[in-house]
Amino acid sequence: MPVNYLNAFEMAQHQFDAIAAKTNIDSEVREVLRYPEREFRFQIPVRMDNGKIRVFFGFRVQHNDARGPAKGGIRFAANETLDTVRALAMWMTWKTAVADIPLGGGKGGVVVDPSTLSVGEKERLCRGWIDQVWHDIGPRVDVPAPDVGTTPQMMAWMMDEYSKLAGHYSPSAITGKPLGVGGSLGRTEATGYGVVDCIREAMRHLRLKPENSTAAIQGFGNVAQYAAIAFKKNLGGKVICVSCYDGNDKESHTFSRKEGIDAEFLQSITDQYGAIDKTEAKEAGYAIEDGNAWLAKKVDVLIPAALEGQITGDNAHNIDPQVRIIAEGANGPTTPEADAVLMQRGIFNIPDFLCNSGGVICSYFEGVQNDMNYYWDHDAVLRRLDQKITKAFHGVLETATKKDMHMRDAAYTIAIGRVVEAMELRGWI
Ligand code: NAD
Repeated sequence: MPVNYLNAFEMAQHQFDAIAAKTNIDSEVREVLRYPEREFRFQIPVRMDNGKIRVFFGFRVQHNDARGPAKGGIRFAANETLDTVRALAMWMTWKTAVADIPLGGGKGGVVVDPSTLSVGEKERLCRGWIDQVWHDIGPRVDVPAPDVGTTPQMMAWMMDEYSKLAGHYSPSAITGKPLGVGGSLGRTEATGYGVVDCIREAMRHLRLKPENSTAAIQGFGNVAQYAAIAFKKNLGGKVICVSCYDGNDKESHTFSRKEGIDAEFLQSITDQYGAIDKTEAKEAGYAIEDGNAWLAKKVDVLIPAALEGQITGDNAHNIDPQVRIIAEGANGPTTPEADAVLMQRGIFNIPDFLCNSGGVICSYFEGVQNDMNYYWDHDAVLRRLDQKITKAFHGVLETATKKDMHMRDAAYTIAIGRVVEAMELRGWI
């Protein structure tokens, strides 16, 4: 079936079927894993500022909790559907398993454009979401976190509502909270830094010198900004361009500088949506090119860290022969057609659910610190993140080498294997 005819959940099942077919998992177990364990769909009536009640629709899906409580974000998006949430929940199961953190996979959502709500309406919607599912989530059951359209402040309201209903302060019920109510130091940088930890290990494997290396990045939001900072600070390499989408002219642009970008400076002229100010960048000597220019740069590493479906069968041939590594900071940036081209060209791919697992690893650390009621300093968090993601990377690399597999297939093989093992040990299958 052509992949572009599938919705997100069918695509997640399709990917699972394809990899399961290469393993010895039996068909009954596959059938269990093709569907979520539990899903909740509910209405959330909210008193709006104009005094009227508006009904929103919310979801929480728990795909699998064999290895520990379900874990995954809550998205507030106008086009949210139950199928999108199901797909994202399944992908979270594989992400927590490949990172080897003792959690499962879940996801939640509300059909709403949060930019249309006042602060008070947002708070009432967040509390309403918890009121509907608090019996079915919690530190030992399912731990939500922020995602597209939700923020640390919203997580603070949700944690507060959960705590009130549970009758005691329960910070580990929700992660991604602000620092003042049990958030973890290092969470902001975690995903971008984890991407660079993976790149460092890939370079070691390919015998590339990080200090002489160059990178081009798509995006300049949370993941891209900290990947750009860490690429220079931790590896000594040079990022020659980043790109972003500009909501004003509704176009994307690539911001380049041959001698390397100054990520902290660009951060200072970037808005909350990850759009860089073109006038200020131009004044500072940055060339502003077409949004697709990042992909064709003569660099050693490409870091797609913006959106899904960016490297396709149509544009993969634009990638320069010098590129040795693609580090998938975004979720799903490479289409299956592009994957085939990259494999044939021998480009080393660090698959999304391994490469960007730094965020969920740090969320897990947040819950651990909440449960201990003892908080690590910034360096301790990033050091533990590095250890965890480096170990995960080498686990995948070893399987890829041993079984002569692409990194993505190796990562799926490990993740599915761990989930199946936990289900067997618990006597579920
Ligand atoms: P963000 O909203 O902070 O930033 C997105 C960036 O992409 C912005 O700079 C935006 O301008 C840019 N962008 C959007 N469309 C573009 C286009 N067509 N061309 C170029 N740039 C474009 O998002 P984020 O949190 O950095 O997440 C980026 C990706 O990483 C997403 O796929 C997300 O699911 C994934 N991810 C994020 C985290 C996390 O901790 N933030 C964790 C895991 C995965």
